[in-house]
Amino acid sequence: MGYGGRPDRDGRVTLDACIMDEFSNIGSVACLEHIKHPISVARMVMEKTPHVMLVGEGALQFAIAQGFKKENLLVEASEKEWKEWLKTSEYLPKANIENHDTIGMIALDAHGNLSGACTTSGMAFKMHGRVGDSPIIGAGLYVDNEIGAATATGHGEEVIRITGCHLVVELMRQGKSPQKACEEAVMRIVKLTKNRGKNLKDIQVGFIALNKKGEYGSYCVQGGFNYAVHDATGNKLIDANYFLK
Ligand code: ASP
Repeated sequence: MGYGGRPDRDGRVTLDACIMDEFSNIGSVACLEHIKHPISVARMVMEKTPHVMLVGEGALQFAIAQGFKKENLLVEASEKEWKEWLKTSEYLPKANIENHDTIGMIALDAHGNLSGACTTSGMAFKMHGRVGDSPIIGAGLYVDNEIGAATATGHGEEVIRITGCHLVVELMRQGKSPQKACEEAVMRIVKLTKNRGKNLKDIQVGFIALNKKGEYGSYCVQGGFNYAVHDATGNKLIDANYFLK
């Protein structure tokens, strides 16, 4: 997610994205500026480099060399919000949907192969250089073509703490349904938050998961997130179930 995303506290729009295919090929970019579609750059990292992750200046240099156009991504509305935020400059990543803009996709194709992608401008008004879960394979996205796939949204720090999406896929490997696997990963966050003496009300994380059979599920710490399902029967927008009622 590039255009229209909220900037960091210095007014810079920095983007994170990653992609993983059925062969476990992976590509990722973090803290990438000025490129509208960071996920396409992540794909190029996967397809055209011997590496799996490029960050900051190096990622931008690579994108430009691949023909991507350098653009100003700070749209007027986001700039206005940022200027408003500067008046207090208080970083309070409250658990509300407005603060998040991650797009995560997991797919099972007609041949039964799984793949996924995840892209975001990250938490609004984060510190410059902050990287969330979304470009980190295993945290914001994980695909195992024998088992299933998962992606996450919400507070990246909490997702990274439990290597969230890898955990969800491993739970499915142990026989859990996608729904149960998401629930167990969220419960791990709930437990760690309590152990760390933090307030769960300040935290939001959501997972979606899909297995090899095409079954899917989702679970969040709190309400407010929904996800879209597209299959042979059509499109559905589903409100995700959650822990804090
Ligand atoms: N997970 C993203 C991050 O922490 C935020 C989001 O979901 O919008 O950067």
